[in-house]
Amino acid sequence: MSDSFDFNIDGKIALVTGASSGLGWRFAQVLAQNGARVVACARRVDRLQDLMEEVAAEGGNLQAVAMDVTDRASVSLAFDQAESLVGTPEIIVNNAGIAVASRVLDMKDDDWLATLDTNLNGVFWCAREAGRRLLASGKGGSIINIASLLGKRVLPGVAAYATSKAAVIQLTKAMALELAKHNIRVNAICPGYILTEINGDYFDTDEGRAMIRTIPQRRLGDVSDLDGLLLLLASPASGFMTGSAINIDGGHGLVTG
Ligand code: NDP
Repeated sequence: MSDSFDFNIDGKIALVTGASSGLGWRFAQVLAQNGARVVACARRVDRLQDLMEEVAAEGGNLQAVAMDVTDRASVSLAFDQAESLVGTPEIIVNNAGIAVASRVLDMKDDDWLATLDTNLNGVFWCAREAGRRLLASGKGGSIINIASLLGKRVLPGVAAYATSKAAVIQLTKAMALELAKHNIRVNAICPGYILTEINGDYFDTDEGRAMIRTIPQRRLGDVSDLDGLLLLLASPASGFMTGSAINIDGGHGLVTG
């Protein structure tokens, strides 16, 4: 039986992709604030250095490691570096992602390919690398994939993004099924709209403001809205949860129109 009140991740080793801004920055910070030894990954290492300083000032433990999730060699090298810095990551947050707005018939080949390469292939390379290393080390772990509400519902202009995120949800379930016996849990978070660099420009437009009015709670999420769910999935409190894809969206997933 798992202890469903045990949210303790003190001393655990965590790796967060896409930690140079937005949700990933916050995830890395929250994990470090709760005692995890965090490896923060992204391409913009200068930003990771800023995060490292911020976390160090709060007394946390965070290392910055370069990783391009679309490049298998870079993923493998980053996990090697993580292992030599702090050990095998046992909490892995697959957060790196991009969004390109385009309707299907106008979609540029490169936009389609880049979206799937980052949002789907990137999650696969990291999750597989993490799973293999956990298995080799004999440790259990928690893989947390950041999908999206748009992996479950769709709107005009988001075909590539929504397709990639739907695939991430299905990959989450497939990995959960295969890894459960090794004490590796795999779950997905499906956020609704959270204000970050990925969408800030859009929510400054009239169309963006109109979109906010369609959210039942009539607001965008704040990065802090995901703290509790992150800690739940990262910690022993969710020991019996695997293969879940949890909405956190101010009720947006309930809107049918
Ligand atoms: P940001 O644009 O702020 O952050 C995206 C992060 O992904 C950056 O840190 C970026 O780092 C990283 N990244 C992009 N491409 C690569 C790559 N090839 N290799 C490594 N890292 C990469 O967006 P958000 O924080 O909003 O998004 C984070 C995740 O949350 C994404 O997966 C997004 O789809 C998902 N999400 C966001 C929602 C929202 O409303 N904000 C809603 C639902 C899901 P760098 O450029 O330095 O490499």
